[in-house]
Amino acid sequence: MPAPACKDDWKELVNEIAAAEMRTWVASQTDHGGRLAEYRRINGAHGLAEYLSHNGLRIHHRRNIAAVRTQATSYIAAHAQHRQGPLFGAAAEYRHRYCTRNSCAGRCLLDDTCHVMLRCPAHAADRQAMVVAVDDALGRAAARLGVNHSVRSLRDAASDNERLRLLLGSPPYRHLCNGSEEYGEVLRASADFISAVHRTRWLGR
Ligand SMILES: [Zn+2]
Repeated sequence: MPAPACKDDWKELVNEIAAAEMRTWVASQTDHGGRLAEYRRINGAHGLAEYLSHNGLRIHHRRNIAAVRTQATSYIAAHAQHRQGPLFGAAAEYRHRYCTRNSCAGRCLLDDTCHVMLRCPAHAADRQAMVVAVDDALGRAAARLGVNHSVRSLRDAASDNERLRLLLGSPPYRHLCNGSEEYGEVLRASADFISAVHRTRWLGR
């Protein structure tokens, strides 16, 4: 044991103990159940999400998409308003976490991922730029794969859920997207849109 007066030696020892305890805890979680084990099982069953494995993305693209996927976007009311905060004020139940932007204010529109990515008029111009880029990329991918392919634009997707999966890196159309250059363009356009939403909502308020 270090001498009681030597703080640095004690810190080093405590850090080593903490690291060892953390390793033991992680091993116990992954071996005997818990969230880490479940995450590892899901990951093993389905592989990495496309936005993590695709070669055409840079770190900030992945980070932007991850922020929405993990519901860590503090500028979206449905995610942020579980507690009082500077952007949305008082905490509210999930079903009352409404969009407060411009024409949405007072209309009781749930400010969730679908509203932000696909609907909110506060981001119409940025969304339009995203949709143009996404449709262009999907159109070229579909043309490359054959004229009969049904999804040539975001509008062609069967549901909003499929549109969100397409934009957030878990595409429902594996044959269209799997590692393709065009899908890299889709994800970059989506990541850039999310960045614009952040600027509008948080930095530009
Ligand atoms: Zn809105």
